[in-house]
Amino acid sequence: MIEKIIQKSLQDKELSEKEIKELFKVPVFSKEGSLLLWAARIKSNQVSKGVAEVHAQIGLNIAPCPKNCRFCSFAAQNKVFTESFELPIDDAILQARQFEADKANAIYLMTTANYPFEQFIETSKEIRHSLKRETVLVANIGDFTFAQAQELKQVGFSGIYHAVRLKEGKDTRIPLKTRLETTSNAQDAGLLVGTCVEPVGTEHSLDELVEKTIITREVKPVYSGAARRIPIPGTILAKYDIVSEAKMALILAAVRLALGSSIKGNCTHEPNVVGACAGANLLWAEVGSNPRDIIKDTEKKRGMSVQDCISILKEAEWSVLDGPSQLYAVSL
Ligand code: SF4
Repeated sequence: MIEKIIQKSLQDKELSEKEIKELFKVPVFSKEGSLLLWAARIKSNQVSKGVAEVHAQIGLNIAPCPKNCRFCSFAAQNKVFTESFELPIDDAILQARQFEADKANAIYLMTTANYPFEQFIETSKEIRHSLKRETVLVANIGDFTFAQAQELKQVGFSGIYHAVRLKEGKDTRIPLKTRLETTSNAQDAGLLVGTCVEPVGTEHSLDELVEKTIITREVKPVYSGAARRIPIPGTILAKYDIVSEAKMALILAAVRLALGSSIKGNCTHEPNVVGACAGANLLWAEVGSNPRDIIKDTEKKRGMSVQDCISILKEAEWSVLDGPSQLYAVSL
């Protein structure tokens, strides 16, 4: 059964909901599991021509966020950060230039959902003007309108990162519909969208994984993948176990096989060799604020550097792209 589903995926035929669920059922360290990991890597290699990417994110601010996503350290109710903080613009520019020098293939600017949009535009303009023209910029911010998407495009963003999270509307205060509308607004304005099945925890059912995988397929992103939830100490979700990297490798492999070849990228977070071996061809470095961290400079704790991510990809036998992201390749 699993073999047939894998063959169907490798022939680039669309998998049904039932078939995707069968992939998610495969146990770790089983014969079928090995086959799944092998097939995902083959497919990932083929669609990206054996080349992986490292993207690097700058968290621009910290603020208690009223959207209260249970998995996020910025959520007001989680009381991890009770005061607001903003990275000074000069520091943000220095960091973005450092990422350029480190050869990150794309630079993401991230804020909390309640960060004022016009302020984000002004900050982004300054950062954009300090970087090389070919440097790819990606926005990772709250939900926005079509007019705001047009502004992002005008500033020089190539795309956005945006996801309908697992238990969206239940573990978050954002309706699923709003997340999808933002994605459409971005695409209608000419922005490319990267997404992911996240944040995966042991509390999620197979049906939930299938539902979110299909959503990522339907939004026609430039990449999808799977990322695990990092338990934030003292929060309501911390009672659930973290998903092991071994299990996450199977999950991201199942997502890779559920998606067609037109979707070139397969991401995982946080970066790890097992996931990269299983087909993850996109990893993220991080500095500044981070919704999975409990200190304000994630580079001192959870955040990996561009070099760390390159090393992980090389350990997993990937070549790493030298130059601007091909996943977010658009004419500006
Ligand atoms: S994930 Fe985003 S929207 Fe949710 S609480 Fe954190 S910053 Fe706010």
